[in-house]
Amino acid sequence: MINDKQLLRYSRHVLLNDIDVAGQEAIMAARVLVIGAGGLAHPALTYLVSSGAGQITVVDDDCVEISNLQRQFWFRDADIDQPKAHVLCAALQSHNPEVKLKALIQRADETLLNQLLPDMDVVLDCTDNIASRRLINRLCFQHRLPLVSAAALVFAGQLTVYDFRQGHGPCYQCLFADDLDDNGASCAKNGVFSPLLGIMGAAQAGEALKLLAGLHEDGCYLHCFDGRHFQWQRFQLSAVADCPVCG
Ligand SMILES: [Zn+2]
Repeated sequence: MINDKQLLRYSRHVLLNDIDVAGQEAIMAARVLVIGAGGLAHPALTYLVSSGAGQITVVDDDCVEISNLQRQFWFRDADIDQPKAHVLCAALQSHNPEVKLKALIQRADETLLNQLLPDMDVVLDCTDNIASRRLINRLCFQHRLPLVSAAALVFAGQLTVYDFRQGHGPCYQCLFADDLDDNGASCAKNGVFSPLLGIMGAAQAGEALKLLAGLHEDGCYLHCFDGRHFQWQRFQLSAVADCPVCG
């Protein structure tokens, strides 16, 4: 039940007819897994925490590097060499003491994810490589969890919500089959436009909050953002019949 102080804190959400008290209570009761504590996770977690998403677990085994500071805005110079997940959760906790934040300084491998996923309501993939995204996709499908997946590289962003709650695809593997690789492309190698992470990470938080508040609409779309020319495009996705994950 929402109390008077929470009613004030989250009043701008409660005022929205589509969210109202029931939607805000659902957000406050939610259990969210954020995989990665980098450029997508900073804006995504900022809006999840400020919106009062109840229990958030952040998994990342990296430490802060000086090159992260261009876009991972919760990190300070003094945090270099410290574990990202720990620093990020500590910073966000001071922003909203009501939210239960937990940092896991571990690699998000199959064993760990199988332990965590049964206790989650939604998963945000904020990682930066195809292998991790494929693993997270497969396990979210197996656990029938909605997955909000995003990517950002150079000036290009992608976002898709895979709603596996009904036990069917399409899934990430339908779109990015095993024979398709990223040729080792990465922000470290190719660079990334800093505000692109803000746009894509905030969009991830928005889609996750809509899932939690019951506002997610049917249909699965790949949303592509061209940050160089400021253009959005969306493509409807269909399940691939012989997909090794959801087929
Ligand atoms: Zn699939």
